[in-house]
Amino acid sequence: MCGIVGYTGPRAALPILMDGLRDLEYRGYDSAGIAVASNAGGSAAFELRKREGRLANLDAAVAEDGDLIGTAGIGHTRWATHGRPTDANAHPHRSCDGQVVVIHNGIVENFAALRRELTERGHAFQSETDTE
Ligand code: GLU
Repeated sequence: MCGIVGYTGPRAALPILMDGLRDLEYRGYDSAGIAVASNAGGSAAFELRKREGRLANLDAAVAEDGDLIGTAGIGHTRWATHGRPTDANAHPHRSCDGQVVVIHNGIVENFAALRRELTERGHAFQSETDTE
């Protein structure tokens, strides 16, 4: 069973999201990820970190790739239904234009039709998931 955590407020989002994901670990998961919205440079941008396996792997990715600075974000523990447990398939997923990030629990039943339609319209998918 997967889990979702979100935060927006005055505090740094990263530690709150990681604590939330740790609270959700008991539900089981095969990968995890977080996105934090940053306003650095004047325009909104999302920084993502995603890793297959335990939250320790995500902690390591945050440490290696640099802290996520921002006061709003989302986090996910994934239990794969569509696509293997990999870094690329871990949530969150980002839209082609980078303006939207999404996390999702469950199954998008008509994902194949939606994927076909979006591919025809030029979208490039980065994962094998129904969510993206
Ligand atoms: N169906 C989605 C996936 O495979 C979400 C799985 C979940 O609920 O964690 O990525």
